[in-house]
Amino acid sequence: MNATPRPRIRFAAAFGFGLVHAAALGILALDFSWEGVALCLGSYYLRMFAITAGFHRYFAHRTYRMNRFWQFVMAFVGQTAAQKGVLWWAAHHRHHHRFSDQPEDIHSPVQKGFWWSHMGWILADEYEETQLEAIRDFTKFPELVWLDRNQFLAPMLYGLGLWLAFSWTGLFWGFFLSTVLLWHGTFAINSVTHVFGKRVFETRDTSRNSFILALVTMGEGWHNNHHHFQASAAQGFLWWQVDPSLYLIRLGRLLGIAKDLRPVPEKVVGLARERAVWHFSSRTFERAREAFDAAQAGWDARAEQLSARWVERRETALASASHRLSELDASRLRAAAQLERLKAEYAAALAAAAAGTRLRGQRAKALAGIRVEELRLEIEKTRRSLVDALERLVEASGMGDGLPTPA
Ligand SMILES: [Zn+2]
Ligand SMILES: [Zn+2]
Repeated sequence: MNATPRPRIRFAAAFGFGLVHAAALGILALDFSWEGVALCLGSYYLRMFAITAGFHRYFAHRTYRMNRFWQFVMAFVGQTAAQKGVLWWAAHHRHHHRFSDQPEDIHSPVQKGFWWSHMGWILADEYEETQLEAIRDFTKFPELVWLDRNQFLAPMLYGLGLWLAFSWTGLFWGFFLSTVLLWHGTFAINSVTHVFGKRVFETRDTSRNSFILALVTMGEGWHNNHHHFQASAAQGFLWWQVDPSLYLIRLGRLLGIAKDLRPVPEKVVGLARERAVWHFSSRTFERAREAFDAAQAGWDARAEQLSARWVERRETALASASHRLSELDASRLRAAAQLERLKAEYAAALAAAAAGTRLRGQRAKALAGIRVEELRLEIEKTRRSLVDALERLVEASGMGDGLPTPA
């Protein structure tokens, strides 16, 4: 189920990628040590922070400011994660947001499959170059361009440093194993959070929120939040949406390193709070459907009552009344027809979203699920204008008294 063809994978890249995975197995040649575990985790989270707070929230999205010195430090530490150059990373990420889950998206599981979005695209010939035109705001710093061009320097120095300081434990636990885990932790945001998890916002892509991935990636698991509002330093919008990168950026603000953190607008926080329990995953999908159907039934009844009132006197009212009233009547008919059409489409989308639970059917299922959410909004909007037209008709024709109040 691939909508667009995949570019070719570069042999040298795939070979190097495999080699680092093999080197991670080097820990098996050493005795187990808690020092090794601590080095692995410490090295993982240090660099995960530089990737999420640095590469992603600073370089790709500019959600806060730093001076030139700290900016370079962040870029350097981020590059020790061996995820290519800082400008390469940020430019490709901007592209992802521009075309999320569209055919142009270079790492969409919906378009090119799960494993392609996870790691295939990184090894592809086609995306090897840094898209400098997409990151002009940072190419004016020659030190960043230099760092970006010499992508192997930082990881090599970092690995060497760990080896000198902690010997083989440092090299295999602190560098190789930690780097492999860091790769897959980061890549999971491109793959897993576009397939599994909860949707809170009706973004035009398939992004989802995942608590577990937020722990793995220091806050990036709130990917549906992030696709909905990209400009904030925070990705967790509610207090319980754990976002360690944000906490550390705030600590940086206390220390005078980070400035002008861009906030999440109140409106967005409100929506997130409102929908905290309303999301679309297999378990709660049904609950959302039932809640919507119940609300719809109430408003349908209201529209029917008003309609009955109106139709009773329609002929006489229209015969004696103004042009405005017949215009209103025409818009009532249009809204009613539109509502019928939307409801039919809603039923079809609902059936498609419920079908295909396995990974193979994820694309159709995800797209249908998004359509269901969009249709709910459209139905609510159309029904609101139908009821509105009916209320005005009934009132204008002098039959307003004694009508039932809205549910
Ligand atoms: Zn982003
Ligand atoms: Zn995404």
